[in-house]
Amino acid sequence: MGWTLWDWPFLDETHHSKAREVAGFAAGIAPHGAGPLADEARGHVRALGEAGLLDIAVPEPGAGGYAFDVRALCAAREGLAYASVLADTMFAMQGLGTGPIALFGSDALRDRYLGPARRGEKVAGLAISEPEAGSDVAAMATEARDDGDAYVLTGEKTWISNAGIADHYVVLARTGEAPGARGLTAMVVDADTPGLKAEPFDLIVPHPIGRLIFDGARVPKTSVIGRPGEGFKLAMATFDHFRPTVGAAAIGVARRAMDETLARVASRRMFGRTMAESESVQTKLADCQVDIETSALAVYRAAWTKDVKGGRATREASIAKLVATEAAQRVVDAAVQLHGGMGVIEGGIIGQLYREVRPMRIYEGASEVQKLVIARDVLAEAAATAQTDGKAGGSAA
Ligand SMILES: Cc1cc2nc3c(=O)[nH]c(=O)nc-3n(C[C@H](O)[C@H](O)[C@H](O)COP(=O)(O)OP(=O)(O)OC[C@H]3O[C@@H](n4cnc5c(N)ncnc54)[C@H](O)[C@@H]3O)c2cc1C
Repeated sequence: MGWTLWDWPFLDETHHSKAREVAGFAAGIAPHGAGPLADEARGHVRALGEAGLLDIAVPEPGAGGYAFDVRALCAAREGLAYASVLADTMFAMQGLGTGPIALFGSDALRDRYLGPARRGEKVAGLAISEPEAGSDVAAMATEARDDGDAYVLTGEKTWISNAGIADHYVVLARTGEAPGARGLTAMVVDADTPGLKAEPFDLIVPHPIGRLIFDGARVPKTSVIGRPGEGFKLAMATFDHFRPTVGAAAIGVARRAMDETLARVASRRMFGRTMAESESVQTKLADCQVDIETSALAVYRAAWTKDVKGGRATREASIAKLVATEAAQRVVDAAVQLHGGMGVIEGGIIGQLYREVRPMRIYEGASEVQKLVIARDVLAEAAATAQTDGKAGGSAA
């Protein structure tokens, strides 16, 4: 299927050429399952680094300091996820597991961690979620006790992508400057730190993930990112860059499902004609295409807003993630239905996409959380407008 995105005003030639580069790389990705998942995952990171593509996820500093090109991130994730959700996950995690360091870390931390991650030599992780603190991040209990020149970490993280294969994790822990979200601090913890143990577990998709157990892990204060107590703010600022990119990955998955489906309905015959000739099939295809193109509008609008207008662009990012992941789920579900039994056969691409699209509506803020973010932003805007109008009305009277 042709993809008209490149004619859109959100993107310029640098994004087109990055997308072409990624598409060339993605076409050479070997199918999943050749060896152990950890090896395959590390292999993706190495290959992405060697191809220079991790420069997008772990950017070199520019004249104005560290800045992500969110449109390039989205184009890369869309292209990678089209070919391999695992490769896309590894690409994204290199960015998420270094983003706080790039945006807020000291020069010493940047020097130590960013280069190896950019070159694909080291694997990065981001550890926020806990058994009792998923959507409710502020309920986090992992404690970082102040002990002179170090913090001593005790607690458990779970659902941590790359647990067991990462070389370092950016960890949020409670340092207690204030209650709730204002008492958290971000720090880099090397995977081989004594007192830190990783316990990988399996998902329904190929995705390295697991628990991290901290049992008196000593982390030097020089590994703190930003200021103590500002960990939550810093993590949310990182998500503002990466949330639209989850939507982009979802578009990649949806487009792959659509392309597979278009090929299937063109060749599959039933009741004396191809499926593509059936009008009820055509309306399903139309729904899918509308979902894909409206998702792309939301995602690249959010990326453009962040890149060009600046600021946090939180609402746009949440809308992008919500719209695109929910839409991709519908597209993939329609693809399964249109493939019939072939949609659920073990080892088939459509069944694989069906599993892979599902976690996207949960991680980096479940759909319900995105709705809360959007609603709060709209309410705050309405309150601010009412206040301004009230003042204006008052002065006119
Ligand atoms: C594949 C995958 C990779 C992940 N990688 C990482 C990682 O690298 N690092 C990391 O720190 N975490 C990671 N996570 C964790 C992820 O961010 C959490 O799963 C997510 O925040 C939801 O938390 P939870 O699973 O505890 O679900 P819960 O918080 O228990 O939420 C369960 C459900 O409740 C609903 N819900 C939540 N809030 C509301 C609300 N306010 N109103 C109504 N309904 C609501 C949602 O449908 C949600 O799915 C990953 C998760 C997955 C699945």
